Amino acid sequence: MSAEWAPLEDTVPAELFRAEVLSWARRIGVEPREIRIRKMKRKWASCSSAGRLTFDRGLLRQPGPVRTAVIIHELLHLKIPRHTKLFRALLSAYFHEKYPDRELPDLSGNGTG
Ligand SMILES: [Zn+2]
Repeated sequence: MSAEWAPLEDTVPAELFRAEVLSWARRIGVEPREIRIRKMKRKWASCSSAGRLTFDRGLLRQPGPVRTAVIIHELLHLKIPRHTKLFRALLSAYFHEKYPDRELPDLSGNGTG
């Protein structure tokens, strides 16, 4: 049991989040070496050069489009380390596969690594 309580409809269990990450990893064609979920201070997520992804626990309480954007962002870094034009184009394309009518969330406030 988590010490932090949140209404069920506003949160997803860590295992479901992990399954979301793995499902997007297959779609994008990457294999993260490790997926960790823990409390992070300044970012939603980060990606190590060794292929380890770390996601902030707070993401479990974020709306689906925000979770999805962060997940795709980090997984794409396993292919493209920097925020190049191609990186941004792919991020937008994958995001809109799932949310065709939504704008890609602007994550610059609470950034992604
Ligand atoms: Zn990034």
